[in-house]
Amino acid sequence: MLNDPRSHGLWEKTAPPPPATVPLAGEVSADVVIVGGGYAGLSSALHLAEAGTRVVLLEANEIGFGGAGRNVGLINAGMWVMPDDLPGELGPVHGERLLEMLGGAPKLVMSLIEKHAIACELERNGTLHCAVGASGLKEIEERARQWSKRGAPVSVLDADETARRVGTSAYAGALLDMRAGTLQPLAYARGLAHAAVKAGVTIHTGSRVTETEKAGGRWVVRTDGGKVSADWIIVATDAYSTGPWEQVRNEQVHLPYFNFATVPLGDNLRKSVLPGREGAWDTKEVLSSFRMDQAGRLVIGSVGALRNTGYAIHRNWARRTLHKLFPQLGDVPFECEWYGKIGMTENALPRFHRFAPNVIGFSGYNGRGIAPGTVFGKTLADHILGRLSEADLPLPLTDPQEPGLRALKEVWYEAGAQAAHFVDARV
Ligand SMILES: Cc1cc2nc3c(=O)[nH]c(=O)nc-3n(C[C@H](O)[C@H](O)[C@H](O)COP(=O)(O)OP(=O)(O)OC[C@H]3O[C@@H](n4cnc5c(N)ncnc54)[C@H](O)[C@@H]3O)c2cc1C
Repeated sequence: MLNDPRSHGLWEKTAPPPPATVPLAGEVSADVVIVGGGYAGLSSALHLAEAGTRVVLLEANEIGFGGAGRNVGLINAGMWVMPDDLPGELGPVHGERLLEMLGGAPKLVMSLIEKHAIACELERNGTLHCAVGASGLKEIEERARQWSKRGAPVSVLDADETARRVGTSAYAGALLDMRAGTLQPLAYARGLAHAAVKAGVTIHTGSRVTETEKAGGRWVVRTDGGKVSADWIIVATDAYSTGPWEQVRNEQVHLPYFNFATVPLGDNLRKSVLPGREGAWDTKEVLSSFRMDQAGRLVIGSVGALRNTGYAIHRNWARRTLHKLFPQLGDVPFECEWYGKIGMTENALPRFHRFAPNVIGFSGYNGRGIAPGTVFGKTLADHILGRLSEADLPLPLTDPQEPGLRALKEVWYEAGAQAAHFVDARV
């Protein structure tokens, strides 16, 4: 076991092992050094190495230690922001470009899984965004209208069809997005790592970057055990950023999110809850998500951290919510629990930063990082390889900016989630 089961829960329990790696020791040279072993870093590494670039990837902890090993595993197409609002947020060029790239991003994930034979429980049956009440239905209908006019394979299911697919009559309808799917998130990260190593990447885990400096026209990054000199640095540290790129973390408001996984359900119960294995989440402000893993465990998640006073409140909520939505499950025990932090930005959109010449990175996925992280990683590789100019990137270049009242907002997210779950578990 590589990661703490309290932070990586079911995914640590069921993921195949990562490639064997050791901490960096001594001095090495590369063309590109990548900092962070999540989807963005691993995808960049793989695509660069496939083009013959010498790559060293440094990960402070283990592959998938950050969001990549803790998330729900929904391979989403697009962001939270409504499609029609993106051009307003980013301008017409970047807005439409980002929409197109993110709309096609699940396809890239699925093709990498296929190409590299990654065993990560991939399900291609789409996702269900479940509408709570009339306002939720209005929201998904509008989202479906905006994606449909761009040719996306989305449709709105009525309440009966939603009940048949989810296994509860709690929802007024659902947006089915056939571009999307689910996977075992840590297994996907580890599979990318295996593919990257096979392509020639050197990965050092337990190697936190603590400093960078310029020497002889090249970048030098240091860890406690050694240093790497390279022409480029890719910063792929996102919400778990430490070391020289604290500004990446400071630009985000961290939203805690937890998951509980039941023991594997029996055959009959599996036929009544998400029998088609779509990933699902709802339109509530403090949202809930549901999905099955390959062995038939139901994974229920929502906003909150499993620590201190929140632990009992969120656990009680998860139990009561399962009872309310799926009474047929009875008192099915939880087998695993875990939580992590989601990096939210002020406009709910990711960022592209150049921290210094040839030091670049994307961050701020707002809980939608599997497909975007993978496609942005490839984009960084294409940029470094000279295949994509900066003007053709999916996001404009911006400077990291700390949002006002960041620390207070983080306390507020957790307090708000505890209050919502405390009330929700009692009605
Ligand atoms: C609970 C939860 C649920 C989520 N659900 C979903 C979902 O269903 N679908 C979806 O698409 N997205 C989801 N996300 C978001 C998704 O997991 C992230 O957006 C994604 O992991 C970001 O990928 P990344 O490679 O940029 O960063 P990460 O996966 O966070 O990896 C960053 C890595 O950088 C390393 N690092 C940091 N500092 C240093 C340093 N100084 N030196 C070396 N290494 C360093 C960290 O240890 C970490 O391993 C969820 C996130 C969480 C936490």
